[in-house]
Amino acid sequence: MTQPVDTLYVHARELVTLATGSPRGARRGAAMRELGIVRDGAIAVRDGRIVACGPTDQVARDHRARSEVDLSGFVVLPGFVDCHTHPVFARTREDEFHMRCAGADYMAIAQAGGGILSSMRAVRQAGLGELTETTLRHLWGFAAHGTTSVECKTGYGLSLVDEKRSLEALAAAIAQVPLTCRRTFLGAHEFPPEYRSDRDAYVRLLCDEMMPQLAPLADACDVFAEPGVFDREQSRRVLEAARRCGLRLRVHADELSPMGGAELAVELGADSADHLGKISDAGIAALASSDTVGVLLPGTGFFLGKDIYAPARRMIEAGCAVAIATDFNPGSCYTQSMTLVMTLACVKLKMTPEEVITAATINPAFSLQLDDQVGTLHPGKRADFCPLDIPSWRAVGYAFGGNPVALTVKDGRPILANVRDQMPDLGA
Ligand SMILES: [Zn+2]
Repeated sequence: MTQPVDTLYVHARELVTLATGSPRGARRGAAMRELGIVRDGAIAVRDGRIVACGPTDQVARDHRARSEVDLSGFVVLPGFVDCHTHPVFARTREDEFHMRCAGADYMAIAQAGGGILSSMRAVRQAGLGELTETTLRHLWGFAAHGTTSVECKTGYGLSLVDEKRSLEALAAAIAQVPLTCRRTFLGAHEFPPEYRSDRDAYVRLLCDEMMPQLAPLADACDVFAEPGVFDREQSRRVLEAARRCGLRLRVHADELSPMGGAELAVELGADSADHLGKISDAGIAALASSDTVGVLLPGTGFFLGKDIYAPARRMIEAGCAVAIATDFNPGSCYTQSMTLVMTLACVKLKMTPEEVITAATINPAFSLQLDDQVGTLHPGKRADFCPLDIPSWRAVGYAFGGNPVALTVKDGRPILANVRDQMPDLGA
């Protein structure tokens, strides 16, 4: 008795299913290296969900489909989950890159009007339409690199009206892409110039006005917890106010100095502590004993040339749930490529290719409460996956600099092909 399905994807050289254990939850320690590889694999899809995933002869025998897509020669991974991005901005900042290439440091660039405040001025000048359009273009850029779920932060408005417009632009852009998106309010990204001399007043504005009014437009709140930006007490106030407004919590933590951001994230039950270049031993222990995911962003350390990288090996060995993400933003990391970040995680964070695959799929999905829907190729989940033009899964991380993603499949349908004639026609 064959089961009717919408589409059969067949003859993938390898399927990296990650369907080795529970479909849900983060993977830690040795479990991060279990990939559940199926050779000559097939995926049966109905109503956007995976119905079956396994060897082609078996799946094709048990299902009959209205259309069939031949994935011969491709290696299929779950769609990437990019759980830390800043796509709501209006202008790029290549001028700062030129200054850095000429030897300028961060302070010189800030004094020349660069940095987050430069993006803030551009966002404040941009209308809703322009901001929506650039954000939409950025979202499609993620899709082009095999990302099917993405977390999107605001944080370049830094006022009630400009953060509101940023969240509205984000919502309008999300409505126009077939991606699973999460919206994060990052009004606590930096102190705007009008509050330079009274920082406490900006924290009060965030907690008492922005948070209650903007919470309905967001899923989570984030704060840049770093000495010189939001100190530990200010970060705590912002996060507690967010929690009172029903938002989930994420934290930019311990990026450049060990301020105890990871410990604060764990104490407040945050979904993630991100960056962690300078996480302390106590911070690692706190993360390891919690469900807070350590989100590592090696693209930023690489692009800034600072060579500050999170101690991923110690974190994995301690039992932390570890994810990786692009940190796509106009200043410190202008890439949307998860496969490039996977290479950097291997080379700079000393993670194994198996670990980076887990850290780019199910673990970030867990940090976004999407692990019941995406991140592995378990039956019942959304049929989100990307066929890669590489000889074997072992070339993940090894093949770098180009975009190996041939096709991005979201909810069972190809949404983007990087080689035009590979776009299968599934009809209306
Ligand atoms: Zn960030």
